[in-house]
Amino acid sequence: MSHIQNENYSQRNYEPITRDGEELISTHCCFCGMQCGMNIRVKTVDQSVVGVEPRYDFPMNGGRLCPKGVAAYRQAEHRERILHPLIRKNGQLVKATWDEALDLVTSKIQDIQGKYGKDAFGLYSGSSMTNEKCYIMGKFARIGLGTKNIDYNGRYCMSSASYGFNQSVGIDRGSTNPWSDIKEADVLVLAGSNTAECHPLSMPYIWGARDKGAKIIVIDPRETKTALVADVHLDIRPGTDVAIGNGLLHVMIADGLVDEQFIEQHTTGYERLKEVVASYTPQRVAEITGVAPEKIITAARLYGQAKEGMVMFARGVEQHATGTDAVSTYVNLSLVSGKIGKKGSGFATFTGQGNGQGGREHGQKTDQLPGFRKITDPKAREYIASVWGVEESEIPGPGLSAFEILQQLGKEIKGLLLVCSNPIVSSPSIGDVGEYLKGLDFFVAIDMFMSESAELADVVLPSTVWIEDNGTTTNVEGRVVRLKGINRRPGEVKADWEIISEIADRLGRGKYFKYNSPEEIFNELRVASKGGIADYYGITYEKLEKMQGVFWPCPTEDDEGMPRLFEDKKFNFPDGKAKILAFEHKGPNEQVSEEFPLILSTGRVVYHYLSGNQTRRIEALTNFCPDPYVEIHPNTARQYNIGNGELVKISSPRGHIKVVAKITKIIREDMIFVPYHWGKQLAINHLTNPALEPKSKIPEFKVCAAKLEKIETLGEKHG
Ligand code: SF4
Repeated sequence: MSHIQNENYSQRNYEPITRDGEELISTHCCFCGMQCGMNIRVKTVDQSVVGVEPRYDFPMNGGRLCPKGVAAYRQAEHRERILHPLIRKNGQLVKATWDEALDLVTSKIQDIQGKYGKDAFGLYSGSSMTNEKCYIMGKFARIGLGTKNIDYNGRYCMSSASYGFNQSVGIDRGSTNPWSDIKEADVLVLAGSNTAECHPLSMPYIWGARDKGAKIIVIDPRETKTALVADVHLDIRPGTDVAIGNGLLHVMIADGLVDEQFIEQHTTGYERLKEVVASYTPQRVAEITGVAPEKIITAARLYGQAKEGMVMFARGVEQHATGTDAVSTYVNLSLVSGKIGKKGSGFATFTGQGNGQGGREHGQKTDQLPGFRKITDPKAREYIASVWGVEESEIPGPGLSAFEILQQLGKEIKGLLLVCSNPIVSSPSIGDVGEYLKGLDFFVAIDMFMSESAELADVVLPSTVWIEDNGTTTNVEGRVVRLKGINRRPGEVKADWEIISEIADRLGRGKYFKYNSPEEIFNELRVASKGGIADYYGITYEKLEKMQGVFWPCPTEDDEGMPRLFEDKKFNFPDGKAKILAFEHKGPNEQVSEEFPLILSTGRVVYHYLSGNQTRRIEALTNFCPDPYVEIHPNTARQYNIGNGELVKISSPRGHIKVVAKITKIIREDMIFVPYHWGKQLAINHLTNPALEPKSKIPEFKVCAAKLEKIETLGEKHG
């Protein structure tokens, strides 16, 4: 804890208890971007897992874990792990040897690519993997398979934040500040983030700020557990973030709560913003958002008058057809008030996936090469080709984004390698996605559990869970951390990077994938990222352990990384100035109608993670939240004659599901809310709108039009 980056975190002194015959493996939780530190307690004799405890020495969580963190270790020896390769024979997935499975995968890749071209085989990967694995996925697609069609499930999660940050400040690190800065803020704006449920261990930081007198503004359609502690809750109609942001900016400008000197010296675009937000009076914004004008004025003054302030947001802002506009609009709050590059001032997005940050930095996005390099940049291509030892011309150009890949299955794309992802639960309009997957000539999935997607595969290859992995991830702050795995694997499971290396070898590309350990991959990643925006060159495994992680960029080995961005007020554009970008409110892609009169929104609960493939199998979590439900306001429920706990049918133009009603005042009367962690008949993504944000290509998960019907015959539950 001696390094400056770890100062100001709440630490409690505690030495982990050591017991005879046991040892502690120091790693990080897999279940959200906080990446809380934990020790896995194992028996020395066989490395079997005995339990878990939080790490007091890791600054981020300082001895705390949330319910998911406490239960995560139960994946390791879970009875439902896939233990052996499986091949589909006569319609059934049956046990096979690794040689049989990998030979079949290789021959199918060669058949398909021989017949239809290299791009006809796609790779769809995930962001819950280590940086080393994510890096290997990007490299394997480009020079193992030679396909341009690789993308990852972070496209559904972080891509609007990523695009918005890049267009506003030229760099995509999820937070401009270390998390310890939250406590230094005089005001916090939390937009579209149910922090208490989705990133529970961020709450001690928010309490810390409040204890020091900070005001809390929550912008969210629901009165979430986070909104309950707010000084002002702006309960906006879903899909109106740009309007509320413009309304706040309107009041700040009208009241002179902007930093003219900062704007003049360090930004461009302010005059245009003034023109655009001039018409976003509190009265007009109230009509668009449904929030009272007085609350908009109060919130704008609280933020504008504060000396230091953080603006933080999440998927509620980003998963919209106008998600990148909304992100840049919220970033404008920081820019016009000069609240950036200082202790307690900046902006952040709450990273959803375990490695949502690192997973989007090193090349598994279709338009990107390692170090956040653009795949269309000739210099970047030359450099990465030299690191990989290939000709520049061997690296394909940009391909399709995640949902576009799915839409092309059976058409432009005939074969698919799916890694650590469950798109038939996590995608929008999943009735269609099931049909897309069935249209493939060949489908191979690498996973730890039999997900709803893997069930459809021709070959399933078993992978390690996080607790068995060595490597690194990058947390919500931009801090790279070191994960250590237990030295025990059930059955015949292999790490994803080992599986990929073996397929590459069989494809005759093995010389590019000769690694003996994740550290060797990381050392190559360091070189590949050198000189890029996300520069990891100066980060080593040794340094990560010594410093409790290192914030990127870290360009040299004697550099200690950069916990707080923009302290020099230099933004990542040629003129060094941040771009204040102005957007008009457009609203959701799909509007409510007579047939579908309610707004449907989706989100998470504290007990589950993403598609639920991992958490739905852990009893300690499912006991608390076994099934999805729909939140309905009492007045709306009355209108439909629906009682608490009754079964209801929810429909949208794309499909329907049946779930139980949870009558609650926390939700607006014009909307309903359903958590999205379940598959098959219980998947709310049967209903969600596949409309993509044009720049980030994120689907509009957070708003679609829906209708509600009471089911008279309760016997047909989930039918
Ligand atoms: S807050 Fe996130 S990282 Fe921390 S224990 Fe909970 S799920 Fe794990």
